[in-house]
Amino acid sequence: MNSFDAFKDPKLCRALLDRLLAEADQPLRFMEVCGTHTVSIFQSGLRSLLPATITHVTGPGCPVCVTHESEVACFLELAKRDDVIIATFGDLMRVPGPKGKSLKTAQADGARVEIVYSPIDALAVAAANPGRTVVFLGVGFETTAPAVAATIRLAREQNLKNFRVLCFHKLVPPALEALLADPETNIDAFILPGHVSAIIGAAPYAFLADRYHVPSVITGFEPLDILSALLEIVAMRKSGQPAVVNAYTRVVADSGNPVARAVMDEVFVPVDALWRGLGLLPGSGLVIREAFADFDAMRLPGVTLPDAPPLAGCRCGEVLKGKMAPNECPLFDKACTPATPVGPCMVSTEGGCAAFYKYKLDL
Ligand code: SF4
Repeated sequence: MNSFDAFKDPKLCRALLDRLLAEADQPLRFMEVCGTHTVSIFQSGLRSLLPATITHVTGPGCPVCVTHESEVACFLELAKRDDVIIATFGDLMRVPGPKGKSLKTAQADGARVEIVYSPIDALAVAAANPGRTVVFLGVGFETTAPAVAATIRLAREQNLKNFRVLCFHKLVPPALEALLADPETNIDAFILPGHVSAIIGAAPYAFLADRYHVPSVITGFEPLDILSALLEIVAMRKSGQPAVVNAYTRVVADSGNPVARAVMDEVFVPVDALWRGLGLLPGSGLVIREAFADFDAMRLPGVTLPDAPPLAGCRCGEVLKGKMAPNECPLFDKACTPATPVGPCMVSTEGGCAAFYKYKLDL
């Protein structure tokens, strides 16, 4: 048995589930804000075993899914340029943009798009192609932003003049605040993202309990982690003492990772940012600081955020706010499947619609 197996132990899971069935005697609508939690809750079968009083809602925890329509249109425009090579993580390749175009179709139309496994790999692409500008697509939450910031710093150290980042990074706490400020979301509790919390720690979530009285637990991704978090939430609701609890102490320090935050702060600065479905949220995105302007793809001549309408018929915006379950979308499993995705929530493996589709027997 490895150390992860211990967090899947069937006997312990059964015991925690029995406790949850006995103790969860009030309605509880909880949201998880991490695509890995979404998948884990389905994959482990937990969703179908939860007490009838507990409703699981997926939130805006998939970075590809929350990338705004205008941001997708922006990088698709950039991909058309002969002097540009786009470097990206593979999960952005099939995200649909205006007129059904994607990086995949752009590639078929002749655009040079390189899939990389780390932002640092994009530096090698830039070094090998001095006659073109290599633009890395900076999409992701606090989890990925530090590595991208460190890559920009490295590009400067290497004196790479043809490397840029299109910075669409987003910050999780402002999105949670926007969800709670919306009276229609009806969220009673949050399971908070383990990976993001490893960077930011617990303090940035304090407002959830202090201002909104919503109990929240930072937890891991194994069944025992999730069941323990739900028991903690049920206990906090019963006691009437909501708090932000770090139950993932084997990975997350309460203070987060100060080294990662320092490089993020050195290279990026928070700004208001667009989110798919949630709109413009104050202080929820990162842009590249003036000191690193030479590495900012938004400062290339002619690059703008174009207006782009929501994808026709796609309800990703409501899914990301927890206002609609993916299988309530009229296109789910009809026009929209993983083979024929209409929206990003069906494209990304961590998207709510893709998880619902893959595990639909478990709905
Ligand atoms: Fe969009 Fe497809 Fe999800 Fe509907 S099922 S919300 S069309 S991704």
